Amino acid sequence: MAERTLFQKIETGDIPADIIYEDDVCFAFRDIAPQAPTHVLVVPRKPIPTLNDLEAEDAELVGRLLLAARKIAAQEGLDGGYRTVFNCGPDANQTVFHIHLHLLGGRSMSWPPG
Ligand code: AMP
Repeated sequence: MAERTLFQKIETGDIPADIIYEDDVCFAFRDIAPQAPTHVLVVPRKPIPTLNDLEAEDAELVGRLLLAARKIAAQEGLDGGYRTVFNCGPDANQTVFHIHLHLLGGRSMSWPPG
């Protein structure tokens, strides 16, 4: 059996995290090293390593991550807006190989990102 990812261990409670949202497709918890007042990771239950591993059948799953992020942003009161980011691969500094959508908000942000 494949080694479980860090985020699968969070899903099952083997690694503690502040889980703030769950549905049938994904779950979300606060990032351990927040880069904004709100920094949440939205993670599919399916452990897809990177965006490059997505298949056509995952199209709905990706949409569901974004819809979950929108719901969480409303829950968190991010009325002034927010940023969503998927890091993919070394140039984007992806460190956990189980896709996740970063939801960042609660401060104004610059562009381009570093
Ligand atoms: P990325 O660099 O896009 O792969 O993002 C991985 C994110 O996971 C980083 O923002 C980390 O701070 C976060 N992270 C790593 N370990 C944990 C953990 N145990 N609980 C919550 N967030 C974590």
